[in-house]
This record gives sequence, C-alpha cells and structure tokens, in this order.
Amino acid sequence: KPVIIIVVGMAGSGKTTLLHRLVCHTQSSNIRGYVLNLDPAVMTLPFGTNIDIRDTVRYKDVMKEFKLGPNGGILTSLNLFSTKFDEVISVIERRADQLDYVLVDTPGQIEIFTWSASGAIITEAFASTFPTVIAYVVDTPRSANPVTFMSNMLYACSILYKTRLPLLIVFNKVDVARHEFALEWMEDFEAFQAAVEIDTSYTASLTRSLSLVLDEFYKNIRSVGVSAVSGAGVQEFFEAVETSAQEFMEGYKVDLDRRR
Ligand code: GDP
Ligand code: MG
Repeated sequence: KPVIIIVVGMAGSGKTTLLHRLVCHTQSSNIRGYVLNLDPAVMTLPFGTNIDIRDTVRYKDVMKEFKLGPNGGILTSLNLFSTKFDEVISVIERRADQLDYVLVDTPGQIEIFTWSASGAIITEAFASTFPTVIAYVVDTPRSANPVTFMSNMLYACSILYKTRLPLLIVFNKVDVARHEFALEWMEDFEAFQAAVEIDTSYTASLTRSLSLVLDEFYKNIRSVGVSAVSGAGVQEFFEAVETSAQEFMEGYKVDLDRRR
C-alpha cells in the first residue's frame, strides 16, 4: 500500500515547491509516486498531477455562482470536491500495488484545509484506507524569531491533536537559514528561554508559559531540514516519512479503528 503524504503549512512556506522537489526525487529514484493537487486556486503548477481538483471544480465559477470572495470560493470548491472523495480513494486503491507514495498539495492558506469540514473528511478518508502522514512545512528563515517560531509550533501541535496522525515537521528553505536553531530550541528548553529573554515585549511571558506546554509536544515529534529549491535533505525527508508510516501502522491505525 502507498503512504499518503499530505503537505500542509502556512501560505508561502513552500508546499508547492516542496511537492515539485518530491516529484522530481521520486522520478529520478524509481520511486512510484502519485500526485494530487487540492489547491483549486493555483494558477500554474511546476509539476504534472494525476488528480487535480481544478479538473473537477472551477473556483472562479464557484465564486460567481455562490457570490463569494476568494477564500470562500476556495473553501466551497474544496467542499464540493470532498463530496466525491470516495471516487479519488477508489482510483488510488485500484493502483495501490503499483504505488509507493501519494503526494498531496493543499490550498495556500493553511486553515482552509486544516480547519474545514472538507479537510477533515479528506484526511479521514485517506487515513482509514492508507498509512497517512502529515508533513507540516515551516518557513525556517521566517521562524528565526522565537515568538514566530512558537506560534508556528503551536499550530503544528493543534494539527497533531486534530488529525491524530503522525506529524513530520519539515523545516524548509535551509538554503537561506539553517534549522539548527530550531532543533536547539526544541531540544533545550533553557536555550529557547534565553532567546525569549532578549525579547522584552509583553508577549514574552506568555511565550515562556506556552513553551512549557510545547516541551511535551517536541518530545513526540519528528523533524527534518530541507531545501525545496536545492534538494538538500530530501533523502532524510523520505526516511522520516517511512518511520512515521511505521508509527501509523503500529499506533495510529489501532487508535483510529478503536474510535470507529
Ligand atoms: P506555498 O504557498 O506553501 O505553496 O509556497 P510556494 O511553494 O508557492 O513557495 C513560496 C515562495 O517560497 C516561492 O517564492 C518559492 O520560490 C519560495 N521557496 C519555496 N521553497 C524554498 C526553498 O527551499 N528555498 C528558498 N530559498 N525559497 C523557497
Ligand atoms: Mg501552493
């Protein structure tokens, strides 16, 4: 069975560029990938897809028909698409023994996927049929500020609890800024505190308390540093996905079956 990799992350974190990199890597390493685009509003994609939401719903028409703005249009398009998602699952199931990975791109704005009914329906449909992993893409250079870093990690934490799926934090853009500072902050509570101390703004004390909460989250989370542009870390990415998929089979699947 293929492993489903759902790529999520803040707008501009590099989801689409990472997916392109992953597609290139699979093609050049004889890994059998299947590509799914769930962003109805993307203009052009740098990679070819096997299933594209844009072939089924036209987001501009949805905006006009339901008199919606851009975000409402994207959300409604995703809702319409999710009603037919069982067909997508069937198509993948039919090809299951010929596939290693299914790579899934999601809409630019993270909350459209992670905080919508359709996002939950799609994620659950995948997870009830295949080992499924969430790849949470982080814009590393933009997370060098401790408060920004912490907001980003809190978001990742909320996705972990919402989906209950193995979550892999992907520190992207390491060609611009290395991610070692992030690893240090995740491993060493004091190091993060020291970074916050420098910042004397009113959010600092809140940050201090919240980072205690996050400490537990960090202990149970896997992360890799990559550059979607240079290709650095892609090998490690796939290794981490394999470990996460293993985790899914051992723990998460049992948990999912129990909840049904
Ligand atoms: P998305 O909204 O998450 O899909 O983000 P995109 O993939 O569209 O990328 C947003 C911007 O970040 C684009 O200008 C990309 O060229 C840039 N970008 C993405 N990944 C990297 C990376 O690894 N390194 C650098 N330097 N830029 C990147
Ligand atoms: Mg994108």
